[in-house]
Amino acid sequence: MAEKFVAIYDKEIVWPASVTPNGYNDFPEPFREISVDEYIHVTGSQIGYFRVFRQILDLDIFKCVKNCDITIYGSFAIAIVYPNDWKCNNIKGEYHIKYKDKLRYFYIGCKHHYKEVATSGNCMHRYKCFNCGHEYTVDSSG
Ligand SMILES: [Zn+2]
Repeated sequence: MAEKFVAIYDKEIVWPASVTPNGYNDFPEPFREISVDEYIHVTGSQIGYFRVFRQILDLDIFKCVKNCDITIYGSFAIAIVYPNDWKCNNIKGEYHIKYKDKLRYFYIGCKHHYKEVATSGNCMHRYKCFNCGHEYTVDSSG
C-alpha cells in the first residue's frame, strides 16, 4: 500500500473547541495524564483526524525535551510522550526498539459534562458540554 505524505501547517488543522493549539513546542491545555488502559479505551473505536508531532520544551513534569505525537479525535486529542532513552536491539537479524522508561499518555481537552439542550422531532437529540460549549447531535432512530 502506498502512503502519501503531505505537509500541512498548524493553521489548517481544525483543533477541537476544547483544545488550545498554543505554540509549536507547547503542550496543549487542558491535559491530564491517563493510564495505558484508559488510552486504549478512549482511542480503541475511533480514528484520529490529524497527527501532530511536537518536541515539548517547557513542561515541569518532563524536566527535559520530549518527543510527542498528538492525535486529534474531534472534541479531544491524545498525546503520546516518548522516553528519550531507548536502544535498538538486533535479535537474529530483526531490529527491536526497547524503551528504558514507559511511554506516557495524556488526554488533551475538556472533561466533557454533557446535557441535552434540544430535541427535534422524536429522535434528534442535541447535547452541549457545560464546561467548554462543545455540541453534538445524535439521531436515536437507529
Ligand atoms: Zn467539554
